[in-house]
Amino acid sequence: MADPIRIPTVTSPFLRFEALGKLTWSECFAFNRLEIMDNFVGPLMAVPGESQASTRKLACLLYAMMQQQHDISASTAILRDFVKPAGLNYPKVDLLAAEVSTSTPIGRVHWSPSGAPRLHVYCHTIFDLLGACLSEAAHLPALSPEQKERTKRNYFARLASLYSHWCFRLLDTQDQDRRPAKIGLACVGNVIVLGSCIPRVPQIPEGKEVIRKSRFVDLRARGRQEGSKKQILDPTKAERIAQDYGNCAETWTFALLCTLSEESLPKAFGVAVNIPQTLVLEYNEQEERDISRYAPLCVNCEKLMKQIVRWGAPGDKVVENFTAWRWTLHPADV
Ligand SMILES: [Zn+2]
Repeated sequence: MADPIRIPTVTSPFLRFEALGKLTWSECFAFNRLEIMDNFVGPLMAVPGESQASTRKLACLLYAMMQQQHDISASTAILRDFVKPAGLNYPKVDLLAAEVSTSTPIGRVHWSPSGAPRLHVYCHTIFDLLGACLSEAAHLPALSPEQKERTKRNYFARLASLYSHWCFRLLDTQDQDRRPAKIGLACVGNVIVLGSCIPRVPQIPEGKEVIRKSRFVDLRARGRQEGSKKQILDPTKAERIAQDYGNCAETWTFALLCTLSEESLPKAFGVAVNIPQTLVLEYNEQEERDISRYAPLCVNCEKLMKQIVRWGAPGDKVVENFTAWRWTLHPADV
C-alpha cells in the first residue's frame, strides 16, 4: 500500500498581515456579520504600508457598506452617490460604461489584485468588495514558505468555502436571492481572485441586468497577446442557454486568464462553489463538505474558456483545472 500523502496543515487563512494572521479557520467559519467587521474588515482597514493603500481603500468601503442596514434598499450594489464616512474621500466610485447606462445610480470600484499588475477588474456589489478583500488578505509573496505549503485541499478549497460562507453571513436576511448564487475562485502562482455572480439588487429593478451588461462590456474588451497577434474574446452566447455572459462567478476568472502567457495558462486552477443554505458554526471537515457544493462550468463558461485555451494551445489542461469534480475535500480522494 502506498504511503499516505502528507497534507501540510495550514492553520490560518490570512498570514499576510499580523492582525489577521492569528485568525484560525475555525474562528472564521463561526463569524457572524458583526464579527466579520470587527475581526477581518476592521484590521484590514489598518494594515500598514504604502503598497497596501488599495487594500485599505477596499476594506474601508466594505466596512462603510456593512455598517448600513443591508436588508433595505439597494445597498448590495455600490451606488455612484454612495455616502462615505466623513473624512473618507476614497475609493473613487466610477461611472459605468456609457454604453451600459447613464441613468442608473450604480457605480464601480477598480481593483488590481496583488501580484497581477496587468489585471484590472471592477467591483459592483458588496459581495465583489468582500471577494477583493479576502483575495488581498489571502495573498502571500511568491515563493514564501507558507505560500508553497498551500494546496487545493488544505487551503484553496477552504478559502472558497469561507468566501461562500461569509457571503451567506454578510446579510441579515432570509431572502436568498439577495445573495449571489455562486462564488468563483481562480489562482495562478500567488495570485488569488475571488469573485461572485450578481445578486438581486433590491429597489433597482434593472440593477442586476445593468451590472451584468457592465461586466459583459468589460469581458468583451478582454484579449490576450498571442505571438504578435492580439486575440479578443468573443463572448457569443451558447445556444439553448437562457443566461447571457457577465452573470457568472467566473467573470473575473476569465479576466485573470486573459493576462497569462501560454506557459502560465496551464498553471491556473479554480472552482465555483454554490452559496450555502445553512449556517456553519464550527469549522470541521464534515461541515466544510456540506457547504462546499462545487458547481461545474456552465456551457457559456466552458465555451469561453476553450476560446482562451485555443489561443495558447496548451491542450485541455486549463479546462481540466477548472473542472469541479477535480476538487474535493474528502480524504479518500486526495
Ligand atoms: Zn458560467
